[in-house]
Amino acid sequence: AEKSGYGRVEFFLKETEKNNYDELILYNDMHAAIERKQFEVYYQPIVDTRNKEAVKAEALIRWHHPEYGLVPPDLFVSIAEKTGFIVELGKFVLDEVLKQQKRWELFKFRQIVVSINLSLLEIETGHFVKEVVQRLEHHQVNPELIQYEITEGLAMQNEKHSAKIFYELRKLGIGVVLDDFGTGYTSFSYLKRFPASILKIDKILIDNIVMNEEDQRIVKAIIDLGHSLGMKVVVEGVETSLMVELLEGYGCDYMQGYYFSKPLPVVEFQKMLRQ
Ligand code: C2E
Ligand code: CA
Ligand code: CA
Ligand code: CA
Repeated sequence: AEKSGYGRVEFFLKETEKNNYDELILYNDMHAAIERKQFEVYYQPIVDTRNKEAVKAEALIRWHHPEYGLVPPDLFVSIAEKTGFIVELGKFVLDEVLKQQKRWELFKFRQIVVSINLSLLEIETGHFVKEVVQRLEHHQVNPELIQYEITEGLAMQNEKHSAKIFYELRKLGIGVVLDDFGTGYTSFSYLKRFPASILKIDKILIDNIVMNEEDQRIVKAIIDLGHSLGMKVVVEGVETSLMVELLEGYGCDYMQGYYFSKPLPVVEFQKMLRQ
């Protein structure tokens, strides 16, 4: 479906100069990569602040490229967004997550809500919610076991439409996370109307929180704001015990970050949960 005229090729070649990856090669290889089983979903635990138990996990895509090794998702996700391939990739991630949920259920593993990242293009296809429902039915998985994350910036690019889609997801019992919160320009009135169940505060606001009192006040204020709107608040990028202590004091509901665990392949993720 994608058109690769000269304009597009030239565009990718120009982009290439910025890094060590040849984006044109990545672009060409991407389509066959699903069939060749080069994509893998990693899981990063999201812990409940109260008892530090991993109750959720974020699904993060990884590409094992035969030539480049692990390609960073930030890079290939943005290519996939430009080419439209992200729609197919999104379906792949959802299917992998639902298959995993089913395995966990069969092996009587404890229930973990899995949070999936969403690109704007996926919900602009028009059949997004219908397809999610179909796949949940196909895999026989409880909708409450998944949630969708959309970045604040993307959600705002198409406010009305994304609000409608997320309202429909919420009705199905699927949680909705406003990701990378605090870096966009969401107005309070928009936030009040937006059907998110969870706010995820961006790592940038956390990075210097131990030293920077201003950041401390901002994060505390966002947590209070989220709570006053009936949302739960997650903080990502938690790397040290000092951060954990501070954030606990501010009353955030969930934490995610290298302090607890990096994103892991599913087998290692399961091992970690058993310990
Ligand atoms: P994101 O959704 O903001 O995901 C969080 C990123 O922060 C992940 O990077 C994660 O590995 C990293 N991270 C988590 N805790 C820490 C920490 O304590 N310290 C540091 N330095 N980093 C931490 P990752 O896996 O490289 O993913 C990058 C981005 O790629 C994601 O940002 C998301 O926007 C996108 N992405 C990843 N998987 C998917 C996917 O399946 N679909 C879509 N549409 N986008 C995805
Ligand atoms: Ca995310
Ligand atoms: Ca994020
Ligand atoms: Ca991000």
